[in-house]
Amino acid sequence: MTLTGMLPIGAADIAATEGTMKALNPATNREIEPDFTLGGRAEVDLAARLADEAFDAYSHTTLAARAAFLERIADNLDAVRAELAGRAALETGLPAAQLEVEAAKAATQFRQFAEVVRRGRFLQATIDPAQPERQPRPRMDHRMQKIAIGPVAIFGASNFPISYSVAGGDTASALAAGCTVVLKAHNAHPGASEIMARAIRKVVQECGLPQGVFSMVRGAGNAVGEALVDHPLIKAVTFTGSEGGGMALYRRAQRRPDPIPVFTEMTSVNPTFVLPHALSVRGGAIGDGFAERMLVNVGQACLKPAILLAVEGPGFDALREGLSARIASAPARTMLTPDIHGAYRTGLERLEAGGAARITEGASPSADLDGRAALFEVDGTGFLADSTLSEEVFGPAALLVKVRDEEELIAVAKSFRGQLSAAMHMEDADAALARRLLPILERRTGRIVVNAFAHPQEVSHASIHGGPFPATSDSRFTSVGMSAIDRFLRPVSYQGFPDALLPEALRQDNPLGVPRIVDGA
Ligand code: NAP
Repeated sequence: MTLTGMLPIGAADIAATEGTMKALNPATNREIEPDFTLGGRAEVDLAARLADEAFDAYSHTTLAARAAFLERIADNLDAVRAELAGRAALETGLPAAQLEVEAAKAATQFRQFAEVVRRGRFLQATIDPAQPERQPRPRMDHRMQKIAIGPVAIFGASNFPISYSVAGGDTASALAAGCTVVLKAHNAHPGASEIMARAIRKVVQECGLPQGVFSMVRGAGNAVGEALVDHPLIKAVTFTGSEGGGMALYRRAQRRPDPIPVFTEMTSVNPTFVLPHALSVRGGAIGDGFAERMLVNVGQACLKPAILLAVEGPGFDALREGLSARIASAPARTMLTPDIHGAYRTGLERLEAGGAARITEGASPSADLDGRAALFEVDGTGFLADSTLSEEVFGPAALLVKVRDEEELIAVAKSFRGQLSAAMHMEDADAALARRLLPILERRTGRIVVNAFAHPQEVSHASIHGGPFPATSDSRFTSVGMSAIDRFLRPVSYQGFPDALLPEALRQDNPLGVPRIVDGA
């Protein structure tokens, strides 16, 4: 596919109105061809209007037709996989082989959501039949189902340029819900974004769907993102990125005359607790495994385990040695963007300023945007004294926290803000301490893992990629896994309807065969 650099908005390819940009190859720190269109408020308005025009027809497609649409997108993503991975590799510095796996995962997500649509459970069809004889007053027939919330804005993430970007889980789950989508492309990978957007748009056309089902916008600075969140026809927003960016957009949406939900996924250090018996039996292996996971994606992953905590005692030196050995031998690798590279260096300085000692470093950088791995250590008292030590450093850095005793471990656990995940490494003999930690972690995380690390991300029905603030702006929802669709749905109750006027899922003979709750059962 020859990259055009134009913005696919509905069926049109929109040429530059607000100038152009080029992608940066972070491995060489040089720009690469071609020019990519930058849009502004006019392009956002066009995309939002088309999304609104398409909404009624798209949100009322049959479950079978919508599932087939999602599966064809998956097939199209498979068809462009090698090209997509190659371009994404150029634009991110991530290995092409890894990106091929990511592209396959993105296609799989569309297929998984097709299955969710076909089964129809997401509609949560619920029927309370009429009770004309009920005393003291009769009950009217009323029925409820979930419907799509409206046209939505999705901000593509920088760090997983396929599976959290244009063709990521947000897009798949929004389209599955019946929402039309305006995608705000991340400027870190414009070529990969175009390949994905065109793969999706091709299917919109082949399926004869209205052109506004999917559009992509891009701009310089914050203007395009702000215009999207402000647009009166946009009814929900999803975002993956920094806490500053996510909260700016969240607050902006709450200031609208008609506030809308904004689901942001922002920051997490994924604390990992090594309980004393596990520490003494296999401290070295846990340290090595932690470092291996920490280094995945050059530490630029939302589920990166960043903070490892253990009580001083037998096995602690082995834990530190396991961590240090792998981090010391880690090559410096290309980070995603100059800003992210710069923020990483600032983050390392912040850890030192907060009182953590830099005890190990990886191999020296050989290129401008290489991220050098680093291991820091602090004791529990020092950790509790400076809250900046518990903030995310996006990149290949980890912090080892040596706590004095179990009481201090509990105090440290209670000091964490909301997290996407937490992990406990334990033996049977650690069960009592694990039971004390569990309610503390439940209150602070969306996922608790035992004897493993949260990364890599599993996408399934029970997956939760969410958690209390600041991990996300709404702890009731997940951005990954099949229940991610719930962000894009809202309930509608139909009372006293003639059967023929009801949505199919609520009709008496259940023509769709969807699971339903009738009279509470
Ligand atoms: P970002 O700066 O938050 O940007 C993400 C997207 O949101 C971009 O498309 C950006 O558009 C837009 N945006 C950000 N702030 C905005 C605002 N105030 N108004 C309108 N649009 C706004 O994230 P990033 O570029 O991916 O990386 C920066 C940092 O985010 C990283 O260093 C890391 O700390 C964090 N991050 C965390 C995760 C995670 O999963 N925890 C993932 C990725 C990044 P423009 O660039 O066009 O403004």
